[in-house]
Amino acid sequence: MAKITLSNLRHSYMPNPKGSEDFALKEIDLDWQDGGAYALLGPSGCGKSTLLNIISGLLVPSEGRILFDGKDVTDLPPDQRNIAQVFQFPVIYDTMTVRENLAFPLRNRGVAEGKIAERVAEIAAMLEVEEMLDTRASHLSPDNKQKISMGRGLVRDDVNVVMFDEPLTVIDPHLKWKLRSKLKELHQRVRATMIYVTHDQTEALTFADQVVVMQDGEIVQIGTPVELFERPQHTFVGHFIGSPGMNVLPADEGQGGVTVEGHPITLEGKITGNGGAAQVGIRPEFVSLAKTGLPGRVRKVSDIGRHSVLEAMVGETSIKAVIDGPVPAQGEAVHLAFRADQTRLYRDGWIATEVGA
Ligand code: ADP
Ligand code: MG
Repeated sequence: MAKITLSNLRHSYMPNPKGSEDFALKEIDLDWQDGGAYALLGPSGCGKSTLLNIISGLLVPSEGRILFDGKDVTDLPPDQRNIAQVFQFPVIYDTMTVRENLAFPLRNRGVAEGKIAERVAEIAAMLEVEEMLDTRASHLSPDNKQKISMGRGLVRDDVNVVMFDEPLTVIDPHLKWKLRSKLKELHQRVRATMIYVTHDQTEALTFADQVVVMQDGEIVQIGTPVELFERPQHTFVGHFIGSPGMNVLPADEGQGGVTVEGHPITLEGKITGNGGAAQVGIRPEFVSLAKTGLPGRVRKVSDIGRHSVLEAMVGETSIKAVIDGPVPAQGEAVHLAFRADQTRLYRDGWIATEVGA
């Protein structure tokens, strides 16, 4: 196992890239600590698979270096990087049995047969596929094929990192949560570095200790699930994580302070920097109904289990609030209050307030 460092990484699929829009990865500097459980979270097309394939060596980056424990591996082929990678769709040998498939990565490395039998039994038990061990892989259902594919990724205990690229895409929903918690459990047991790629916030937040959020070829924030929820560094993170996501409201900055639809807003603290399009970010959990506050009209109320989500129009701006208890009806006039310590200014998407005075 190793610490993995990505240094000044850029990648373009074009032969002669010009502007930054030609790069699938823009500028990545990142350390993956040895033994960490990471999720790489972002929408489809943001560059997650590109980044993974660069770490595993399937792709050579246009610029930058990859280091394992300080050793430069940028020019090493995949089989010399000691990595296990599980892809979105099953990669198994149809003509082999499940047992042979699981044993393959170990046999390939000359592991002793006794040890192979032990590891295969262990992994099969974990994935609950013991009764299929002697079945030919071609006879398996798609989700069982993917389970075996995951097993092949997990069977070696000497890899630098195990990487999963949206592995649950083809898995039945009821099996998904089960496999997800198994992976978490497995990480806690073996303590191998794991990178789990997904576009699904629930998958990312349940698996990972640290979540790396990507957008458009860039990393916008790295943090624990709580940090991402509590202090989004970018409006994208606020919006992408949470359900419903953070309110991102067009704002104006003037001599008298920040306003939304002409109403003054109290922020968490001092404003930093200047310039750029201003927005106020506040999570619906921190918007409440009050006697005074921003005057609006209820547009919609929806039930989300124990709470309701109220959407009100303040001028032209829609604002969501998560409300406990009784909620006003559609069309009613309301006042919305923002919790100041959870209200932030963003400029061109990036956070522009500091906590405290
Ligand atoms: P993700 O895994 O987050 O969905 P990808 O890394 O697959 O994103 O893709 C990032 C960007 O690179 C996308 O715009 C995608 O169209 C482009 N891309 C991915 N693979 C290739 C390829 N082999 N050739 C050209 N463009 C590619
Ligand atoms: Mg992908």
